[in-house]
Amino acid sequence: MVKVSVYTVPQLDDFSADKIESAVLELLGALHEEREAVHSEAEWKALRDRWLARKNGLLTQVNDTWLKAAPKEAKRDVGLRVNELKVKVENVVEAARWASLDWLKPPNDMKFLFAVSGVRLRDHATARLESERLDITLPGVKRPIGVKHPVLRVQDEIVAVFKAMGYSVGEGPEVETDYYNFESLNFPPNHPARDTQDTLFIAGQESKLARDRLLLRTHTSPVQIRTMEKQPPPVRIVIPGKVHRNDPLDATHSPVFHQVEGLAVDTNITFCDLKGTLDDAMKALFGSSVKTRFYPSFFPFTEPSADMQVSCIFCGGKGCRKCKFSGWIELLGCGMVDPNVFEFVKHNGYDSSKISGFAFGMGVERITLLKYEVEEIQLFYEGDVRFLEQFA
Ligand SMILES: [Zn+2]
Repeated sequence: MVKVSVYTVPQLDDFSADKIESAVLELLGALHEEREAVHSEAEWKALRDRWLARKNGLLTQVNDTWLKAAPKEAKRDVGLRVNELKVKVENVVEAARWASLDWLKPPNDMKFLFAVSGVRLRDHATARLESERLDITLPGVKRPIGVKHPVLRVQDEIVAVFKAMGYSVGEGPEVETDYYNFESLNFPPNHPARDTQDTLFIAGQESKLARDRLLLRTHTSPVQIRTMEKQPPPVRIVIPGKVHRNDPLDATHSPVFHQVEGLAVDTNITFCDLKGTLDDAMKALFGSSVKTRFYPSFFPFTEPSADMQVSCIFCGGKGCRKCKFSGWIELLGCGMVDPNVFEFVKHNGYDSSKISGFAFGMGVERITLLKYEVEEIQLFYEGDVRFLEQFA
């Protein structure tokens, strides 16, 4: 039970600010004293009823004795004080409730232990409240949000350039069959690219036919065949993705890297379309002053094939260390789709006497190295935040 307090709400004969203040302080002092004496839910309920009961609770008495009796000119100020007081009293009574709840108390066997060890039960409850206290005003733990990796950012930029020209995006598996990765792209059976020196094969497939053996794709070109199998001409796709080669890691090579390839097939597609498309794309990527030029090259799946160079983006073609003083930088491989490739998808409308197409492919890391003037390709894969946060 709450010990009987001597406190009663006094009548006021003076409603000056000072008198009200001291009456309020006296009341709060009494409240705190009574609150300290609460150790159980039953005692808390008695406290609550004594202070907050609508009928004859001490707060109701304050209302009747102080506010209603206040002269007209003092009513406004007394009203404000009484309202503040109500909130304070309600808060103190509510806080007393949490300190009194039975479930915060230790069970009976622990009471015995505490009695033996001399620890007061009240201390234990307080300790538990203290240990479970949560300060919701503390600032949270800030986690760095991160940014897109520079390689993926450049890959997205390249894809966006071609999307703006009406290309759609194609995707395919990273584990491929020999058929899609080599055979259907016109690689002859003994082409050196199939050598395990160059290609990572999945182990334990000796019993399979060569064309069914699984490998990690060495380029994104298999998606060209997969797309043409599904979709008759015309086709315009770009294929971004991860590819794998059996290369040791050095300054400019990595066993895993990214490519963006493109394929356009339609009636009357010529080498001129290829040149115009790539020239436009390079200007979108590197700026309108960039020039392109094409050199004869060889790829099994294109005929004729070419390497495309861009005028040096560092010196503008004057010659510098980056372009080995040639004024040009080699950037990608391309060519007209070899009619032999169309033979593999002839059943789906790819008759090389009626349609033609071009294809191109570029290494995303290579372009990222150039664009951001990064010296070593490893930096892209080490996950070193000091390096990566420079792109934030
Ligand atoms: Zn240069």
